[in-house]
Amino acid sequence: MSPVSAASLVQSLIRPEILALHGYHVPDSGGYIKLDAMENPYLVPDALREEIAAIVGNAQINRYPNPNPTSLKQKISALLNLPDDMSVLLGNGSDELIQLLAMAVNKPDAVVLSVEPSFVMYKMIATFIDMRYVGVPLAADFSLDLAAMLAAIEREQPALIFLAYPNNPTGNIFSADDVRQIIAAAPGLVVIDEAYYAFASDSFVPQLSEYPNLLVMRTFSKLGMAGLRLGFLVGSTLWLEQLEKLRLPYNVGVLPQLVAEKLLDNHDVLLAQAEQIKFDRSALYQQLAAISGLQVFASEANFLLFRVVNATDVFNGLKQRGVLIKNLNGGHPMLTDCLRVTVGAPEENQKFIAALQESLSDVGLAPDLQ
Ligand SMILES: *Cc1c(COP(=O)(O)O)cnc(C)c1O
Repeated sequence: MSPVSAASLVQSLIRPEILALHGYHVPDSGGYIKLDAMENPYLVPDALREEIAAIVGNAQINRYPNPNPTSLKQKISALLNLPDDMSVLLGNGSDELIQLLAMAVNKPDAVVLSVEPSFVMYKMIATFIDMRYVGVPLAADFSLDLAAMLAAIEREQPALIFLAYPNNPTGNIFSADDVRQIIAAAPGLVVIDEAYYAFASDSFVPQLSEYPNLLVMRTFSKLGMAGLRLGFLVGSTLWLEQLEKLRLPYNVGVLPQLVAEKLLDNHDVLLAQAEQIKFDRSALYQQLAAISGLQVFASEANFLLFRVVNATDVFNGLKQRGVLIKNLNGGHPMLTDCLRVTVGAPEENQKFIAALQESLSDVGLAPDLQ
């Protein structure tokens, strides 16, 4: 037996900020109606699934993946209408790209800045790599507090700013004019995270040529490919060729490359699913808005944020009835009593509403539907 225990070695060797972390918790969703993770509820049509099966069957999984999948990147460039001086960087989900960006600018004293509440990975990744993170609170209605943002930019001189557009977990899209003022004032890189682009009314891709410090990040996760893990960053080649050096050579596997390319050839199928989801988002919004004692927030994403008293009890009531959503209560103070539900297929949404009504009457809130 070794004289030292693993427990004491762990305590002495692992960085204290890592010891203090709570790992990103993904609940076991087996058997639930799963409306917690912004997934697209739909598979692609059978004929396309069979084509994908054939492609996967013939894939050379004995070989390392193509480290520079040009035809996949060209398809993305074409889809986004990128000019010639811009390129595409592929990531194992956009989470990996957030990490890569932060690592690239992490000089001593460099700051990464975002708003709060927003996507938690910006702050988590800053912690992972020991980079200083500054979170600027949003206004009470979850819009940008432009004055506070401009003051923080002036004070902190951030090397990197992340803005989720639309924002997660609030669902709203920020004022484009406010975002432009932030990009213009920023001394460093501004990354507009368009994870929900398929459900939103606006994009900063057309503005890329206007600002030397702007990059746009997207992912296919919310558009029906969460299982593939494929995100991408677009912008000036001058930026991307530096970031490319940090990318691990085989970060996107053989199968995701092939399947994503096939799905992009059928982008219209995915976009039609997104249209259906947007349509069902409006219906779900109306149903939630009709419940008295419940406040639902406008969304340009594939989820809705709502506030209700005793949110944790309501969340547990939903869970007991087989519906899993996201409980945000107890996290950021601005999200007290907030829950987030992903827009599912119509029958899932109806089961959610029925379970919600029952859970509300359990906690003494008689649902008062119009
Ligand atoms: C879901 C999400 C991502 C991460 O997407 P992956 O590509 O699955 O890693 C990034 N940003 C925001 C705002 C998100 O909501």
